[in-house]
Amino acid sequence: MPLVSMRQLLDEAAKGGYGVGAFNVNDMEQIQAIMEAARETQSPVIIQASRGARAFAQDRYLYHLMLAAAELYPEIPIAMHQDHGNSFETCKSAIELGFTSVMMDGSLKADGKTPSSFEENVEITRRVVDFAHERGVTVEGEIGVLGGVEDGHGAGGSGLDHITDPDQAVEFAERTGVDALAIAIGTSHGAYKFTKKPDGSVLKMDVLIAIHKRLPHTHLVMHGSSSVPKDLQDIVNQYGGSLKETWGVPVEEIQLGIRNGVRKINVDTDNRLAITGAIRKVLWTQPEKFDPRDYMKPAREAMQKLVAQRMREFGQAGHAGDYTQVPVADMAKGYADGSLDTRPSVVGAR
Ligand SMILES: [Zn+2]
Repeated sequence: MPLVSMRQLLDEAAKGGYGVGAFNVNDMEQIQAIMEAARETQSPVIIQASRGARAFAQDRYLYHLMLAAAELYPEIPIAMHQDHGNSFETCKSAIELGFTSVMMDGSLKADGKTPSSFEENVEITRRVVDFAHERGVTVEGEIGVLGGVEDGHGAGGSGLDHITDPDQAVEFAERTGVDALAIAIGTSHGAYKFTKKPDGSVLKMDVLIAIHKRLPHTHLVMHGSSSVPKDLQDIVNQYGGSLKETWGVPVEEIQLGIRNGVRKINVDTDNRLAITGAIRKVLWTQPEKFDPRDYMKPAREAMQKLVAQRMREFGQAGHAGDYTQVPVADMAKGYADGSLDTRPSVVGAR
C-alpha cells in the first residue's frame, strides 16, 4: 500500500470524531515500534521526521524504512510528515523525497529560532501550499509560537509568550489555505513543559475551542503534547538518570481538544523517555550486557506499549480499515477543482 496523504487521515478522523497521534522517528526501531502498535490497535498513523531526524538518519534511509513499513503493513494507512519545516526548500525537498505531508512552520524565521511577522508567515506558508497541493501533498501551518526548544528548533521561553489569536488564525487559514493548523495554547516542546500540573492559567483550552468554532473545517494540531508520565520519569531516574520533576499535557486535556477539532497530536518526548528508561534499566541491572539487541529490544517494546496506549486514548484505534486509501495524485485533483479547499470563505459559500 502506498503512503497516503495526511489530509485524508485527518478528514476521516474528523468524520469519526477521533484524533491521530503523530509520532517522531529517527531510526528503524522507532518505526518498527509505531507500526507494531498500529497493527496491534488497528490504527491509521502519522509518522513524522524533523529536520534533525532527516540529518541523523539521512533522507534515503528514512524514506526506504517508510516504504518497508508500507509494504509490511498494507492494512495500515500511513502518512509520512515533515515536522517543523523551516523553509520552502525544506518542504520542497521532503515532497520530492516522497513525504505525503509537510509542516511549514512560518511562525519562526528560517533560523528556527526568531519569531517571524504575520505577513512573512502567510507568504511562506502560501508558497508551500501552492507547491504541495499541486502534488496532492498536505500542508500544516503554525500560527502563534510554541515554547521551548527541541531538536534545535524553537523560540525558547514559556509557552505563554505567543498564544494564538483566534482572529489571526481565521485570517491565516483564509489567506494560506492550509489543511491543518498548529496553534499555540501554552504548550512547549521537550520534557520541561510545566512546573506543576497544568490548569487553565497555563493551558489555554478556551483559545483552542474558540478557534475551532470559527474554523470548523481546518484540522487543529497540538504540538508539545507529550504527557511526560511520572512513571516514565521515575524509571529513568531509578536507573541512574537525573530528570527534574516536570509535567506534560494530561491526556484528558488532549481528549478535550479532540472533542473540539484537534485531529493531530504530536508525541515525541514520551517515546524518548520510554526508550531511555528501558535502555538504562538493562545497562544498570545487567552491566555485563554488551549486545545492543539486549537493550534495543526492550526499548522498542517500551515505545510500542506507549504508542499503543496513546492510540487507544486518542481514539484512532480500530479505524485502520474504515476507508479506502485515496492516491496522493487524486488528492491533487481535489485541490485543483476546489473540493478540498478549506478556506472559510469557500467553505461558507459551498
Ligand atoms: Zn512541534
